[in-house]
Amino acid sequence: MKIGVLGAGQLGRMLALSGYQLNHQFGFTAKSNNDPSSLLGVVFNENETDNSAESLINFADVITYESENTDVEIIRNVSKSIKVFPGEKSLFIAQHRVREKSLFSKLNIPCAPYQTVNSLSDLILAVKNIGLPAILKTATDGYDGKGQFIINRDDQINDAWSSMNGVESILEGFVTFKRELSLIAVRGIDNDHRYYPLVENTHHNGILRMTNAPAENIGKEVQETAERYMRSLLDELNHVGVLTIELFETEEGLVANEIAPRVHNSGHWSIEGSITSQFENHVRAITAMPLGDTATLHPFCTMINIIGKVGDVNEVLMMPNAHLHLYNKEEREDRKLGHITITAKSKDEMNSNINQLKQYLPK
Ligand code: AMP
Repeated sequence: MKIGVLGAGQLGRMLALSGYQLNHQFGFTAKSNNDPSSLLGVVFNENETDNSAESLINFADVITYESENTDVEIIRNVSKSIKVFPGEKSLFIAQHRVREKSLFSKLNIPCAPYQTVNSLSDLILAVKNIGLPAILKTATDGYDGKGQFIINRDDQINDAWSSMNGVESILEGFVTFKRELSLIAVRGIDNDHRYYPLVENTHHNGILRMTNAPAENIGKEVQETAERYMRSLLDELNHVGVLTIELFETEEGLVANEIAPRVHNSGHWSIEGSITSQFENHVRAITAMPLGDTATLHPFCTMINIIGKVGDVNEVLMMPNAHLHLYNKEEREDRKLGHITITAKSKDEMNSNINQLKQYLPK
């Protein structure tokens, strides 16, 4: 089939790399002819084509997207003439934190207490109801921890509201968590669905740095609880494709933070670490192919993002269990340029590999 992807970043690139194996072809709407996906399919350059989405529709048999910031209006219009997976509802919910949290509440998925904030007086009231510490976040357009203000004291309320620049926001109670986890699942057009194991994510300055897959010491019942939450989301959204949920692990159990209606950075390990990667399973799902086995291939699998600077790639390539992925991006501070996945048979082996890797990664 011809798969049209709205967007041409690294996620589109990895979707295409897995999709060609299955005889699919790819087209992308791109901002330049040098985007991470641009060499991997037909490019409809937004700056050179009057209506790149229209051109993509003419090219494709099915459309998907690689960012939750994709314009919902575009998806709504495109859906009138061609199948789009995941559907509009998944995107509409995932790109707005208040809608996301109200869906969690409706489905009895625990999440932080929250309140919508549109003004300073709303914020004062929300702080009164929720208490401090709390986090003020923009309701939309937030990614990698941007558009957030942690309020610890009452005298920070004014600054917090000013930092939102007047946009619709959400105040969330601060969750004291042990670890950050995520669960990735895939659902097919025929309602078949598969889950990857819970993974542990480490962030720094709001950016994902490292994912350990599977997360250590996850009891069967915790995995089952996460899968139950995910199942209710998949069904409620009638979701087709990959869906990710980010969770906090707390003393009281799992607390949901957000969902992403797409393949996710915390699932990149699955390229080498799983029988079927998240990318291949997304492609399978949206093209009505049978879903693939999500079982893991290695007892320890760690994904490390390459951020800002690439470092000594030849040294990385000389490590026997390290798999390098580069995204064809220029070096820039805080930019995700690639990732490395390390597989290991034991924790000791993994730790020594990670220590070795630290020497080659400048950041
Ligand atoms: P987000 O953009 O919602 O993923 O938030 C970015 C990061 O901020 C998360 O990965 C957490 O480390 C932290 N964070 C977000 N929301 C909360 C919360 N309600 N309580 C505590 N930490 C949070």
